[in-house]
Amino acid sequence: MNDESQKEKLRQHFARRVTTQARVVLDTWQKIHSDRSLAVSQRGELVNATDKLVRYAQRFEMTNHAEAGQKALDVMDRWPEGREPDDALWPELQDAMEQLCRSTLRRTDKDQNEAPLQYRRTPIYIALGNEEMARRLIRQLEFFGFRASAFSDAEALLEACALSKPETILMDVNFGGAKNAGIGIVEHLQERHETPIPVIFMSDEDGSIETRLRASRCGGEEFFYPAVDPGQLIEKIETYTHGNTVEPYRVLVLDDSRAQAKYMETVLKRAGMTAHIITDPMQIIHALDDFSPEIIILDMYMPGCTGMEIARVIRQQDRFHSVPIIYLSAEEDVSKQLHAMSLGGDDFLTKPIDPKHLIATIHNRGRRARSLLALMIRDSLTGLYNHTHTLHLLDQEIAKARQKDQPLSFAMIDIDYFKKVNDTFGHPIGDRVLRSLSMFLKQRLRKTDHVGRYGGEEFAIILPDTRPSDARNVLNEIRERFSDLRQRAGDQEFNVTFSCGVASLGSEETSQVLCERADRALFESKKAGRNCVTMAPD
Ligand code: GH3
Ligand code: MG
Ligand code: MG
Repeated sequence: MNDESQKEKLRQHFARRVTTQARVVLDTWQKIHSDRSLAVSQRGELVNATDKLVRYAQRFEMTNHAEAGQKALDVMDRWPEGREPDDALWPELQDAMEQLCRSTLRRTDKDQNEAPLQYRRTPIYIALGNEEMARRLIRQLEFFGFRASAFSDAEALLEACALSKPETILMDVNFGGAKNAGIGIVEHLQERHETPIPVIFMSDEDGSIETRLRASRCGGEEFFYPAVDPGQLIEKIETYTHGNTVEPYRVLVLDDSRAQAKYMETVLKRAGMTAHIITDPMQIIHALDDFSPEIIILDMYMPGCTGMEIARVIRQQDRFHSVPIIYLSAEEDVSKQLHAMSLGGDDFLTKPIDPKHLIATIHNRGRRARSLLALMIRDSLTGLYNHTHTLHLLDQEIAKARQKDQPLSFAMIDIDYFKKVNDTFGHPIGDRVLRSLSMFLKQRLRKTDHVGRYGGEEFAIILPDTRPSDARNVLNEIRERFSDLRQRAGDQEFNVTFSCGVASLGSEETSQVLCERADRALFESKKAGRNCVTMAPD
């Protein structure tokens, strides 16, 4: 390994250590924040953890973390031991923690060292009549790593949306008091955006078809009536914040006119999509392999071949069998368009292209395509990768690890005494626990890690480029934090723990052997009394 890559590796290693410590600080803060009576007993822990963070961050030259930590320490200096902090200190502390949070939220290792640091996620806006409920939701959302803000009037909400387009809005149908006022606000809001903001509507009073229709027409993705509990809501918010804005659609455009292709590229990029344009039909195979598009736009008539012929060739490849294909042409003859569609096209747009129409079509097609793909590779209860796809990913990652000569760790998790949770609180609450662990894992792990649901209450985690000792630390940390999480069933609360087994990839080991070793280590954890992490012997 050369000097540079050695240095880069070290830097990544240290960066991880700093972010892990920042999470400890944020978790402690979260406890205090959600229950102020803990402030006195947790003050010491918060100060120590922050102090440690600042020292690490300074040593490893992660200035954003160091600054945010120092800011928190300065505030805590004015918070005497044995007392709750003054009212004036809360917002200052909150500020410092938010700054830290911004530096820490899940990012890939590569950009971990890059400035400026930003929230990976755009915000979630909450517009509910019930302020207590809004506050409770925000606390829970923060726990899962989301950033949410509540609004008490329409003006503030509109202003915030103008500053930063939210990922989702949770809207009371009668927000502000008047009947359907919330829907009115959303209708107004959507006019300002080319792509609609997904909205979750809630109503205590009105579940009529008229209201539901109106809500759905202005971008209402869900309609909860009568109002639901926070757990269910958070799951919905999770769904709308994953597929939508985080990953831009990858769109391939084939048009023999360079000017037209360039124009399309500009429109697509402006809408936040990733565009790849080609003007020579003969490059299509190469572009498919290289760019792996999710949506393909084909010009109908090109020299040498037609768009329909190209579509047929694309469809002959299994991998692109269900990728949406949209034709583009000045053709206004309806029967020709129908013929084109029958040859494997999904939609038809007529030139000159209306950018709004183009973007809306791509969004519709793209969303459907993604959800179809998700059905194939994801588990429907948790949204995690299913068993088959997890093993497929494991094989891929093993190949990469060998190629790059990097370590790889694999962990199996099994919830402890899960049968008892089902028996005591019922199956739906058991399902809720499974989803909460899934979200927890997704939020706490790096973006480059893969989390799958291996079986009923078993999960598998692939940790590329992770040494066994790091994997053990990360999983132990997650195990501990998860065991602290209060689960709710009606007005009862309970805690759930899990056991874990970790194996690291041996030279020439197959994925099957690796799984077996992790599984055996998991079994050792169960034997040792559960709620622990066991490393498989080499
Ligand atoms: P241990 O600590 O030994 O793992 O005990 P356990 O009770 O968790 O283990 P056991 O394997 O005996 O039971 C697993 C339970 O998980 C049984 C099954 O009803 C439940 N389960 C499996 N899949 C689901 C699911 O999708 N939803 C719910 N609610 N329960 C599930
Ligand atoms: Mg089990
Ligand atoms: Mg179990």
